[in-house]
Amino acid sequence: GSKDAAQQKKELIVGTEPSFAPFEFPDGKDGEITGFDMDLIKAMAKKMGYEKVTIKGMGFDALFPAMNAGQIDVAMAGMSITEERKKQFLFTDPYYESGLMTIVRKDNTVIHSLADLKGKRIGVQLGTTGAQEAEKIEGAKVTNFDTSDLACLELKNGNVDAVISDLPVLEYFLKKGGASYAKTVGTPKKGDFYGIAAPKGKKELIDGLNKALKELKDSGEYQKIHDKWFGA
Ligand code: GLN
Repeated sequence: GSKDAAQQKKELIVGTEPSFAPFEFPDGKDGEITGFDMDLIKAMAKKMGYEKVTIKGMGFDALFPAMNAGQIDVAMAGMSITEERKKQFLFTDPYYESGLMTIVRKDNTVIHSLADLKGKRIGVQLGTTGAQEAEKIEGAKVTNFDTSDLACLELKNGNVDAVISDLPVLEYFLKKGGASYAKTVGTPKKGDFYGIAAPKGKKELIDGLNKALKELKDSGEYQKIHDKWFGA
C-alpha cells in the first residue's frame, strides 16, 4: 500500500527559495529555514511516515530544473498553481490562497493602481507570477531580481518605481519595517493559489501529500500553523 511506499523512502527532499517571509526565510539565530511552508511540509511529511525532511534553498527559477533533474522531490516555495506550470509538473491541492500586490515608495504620488504602471520601472522576482504580470504592462521597464527582498531594496534606493509580488509577502514585509519607506497601491489581484509541485510521474507522492494535507486540515493542525504565522 501507499504507507509501505512512504516508509521505504525515509527522506523527503524539499526545494525552496528561502527569502519569502513568512513562507520560508532564515531564522535569525542559526540560519535554519523556517516559516509557514516549512512547518506545513514538516507536519505533512511526518503524517506520511518520513523520518527526515531536508530543505534545499535555491533561486525560485532553479526549482523547476532541480525537480526535473531529481535533485529535489518537491518544490514548496509559495508557488502559485498556474496552467503553464501544470503542463510540466504535478501540483497538490491548493494549500493557501494568495494574490498579487503592488508597492511603491511612500513619497510616490503618481502611482495609485496597476493602470498607473505604464512605462514605469518595475522590480520583480525572476520566474514568478509577479514577473509575468509586470511583463504585460505596456512600456514598463521590468527588472528581474533573484529575490523579492532585492526588488524591495531597489525600491528603497529609488532604482525602481514599483514592486509587484505576492500580497502576503508584501504585507509581512511592510509590517516588519518596510512600511517606513513603502506602501501598497491599488487592490490585490486575487485568485492565486499555492500548491506543492513535484515532477510528472510522482503521482503517488502527490496523492500522499494531498491526503496528509486533508488530515491536517480536519484535525485543526493546519489552522494552528496558519495562526502561528498569520495570526488568528
Ligand atoms: N507565488 C509566486 C509564484 O509562484 C511567487 C513565488 C516566490 O517568489 N517564491 O510565482
